[in-house]
Amino acid sequence: MNFQFQVCVNGVRTKYSMETDKRRFVMGYMTAVGSCGVCGKTFSFNPHKVPSKNNVPFCKECIDSANPIRVDKGLPEIKYSSDAYSYTEE
Ligand SMILES: [Zn+2]
Repeated sequence: MNFQFQVCVNGVRTKYSMETDKRRFVMGYMTAVGSCGVCGKTFSFNPHKVPSKNNVPFCKECIDSANPIRVDKGLPEIKYSSDAYSYTEE
């Protein structure tokens, strides 16, 4: 069975196919793919849980490197759940 679905991130629709993207696709699960608003790296994430601002997601590495700087400035750390960068069950 070939199963296709679309994920819309930042207004960009991406088509996924079970045939062509088995590595990323697990039946019953979905993930979104987008570019980090800081470093521009393409990464996959849980669209419901990833840290974002104005619908622009931020990758784990950028959040992890920003947090010590935020703490130094007296700002709260950006928290994200452990599954923010993994598949989400739909
Ligand atoms: Zn980044």
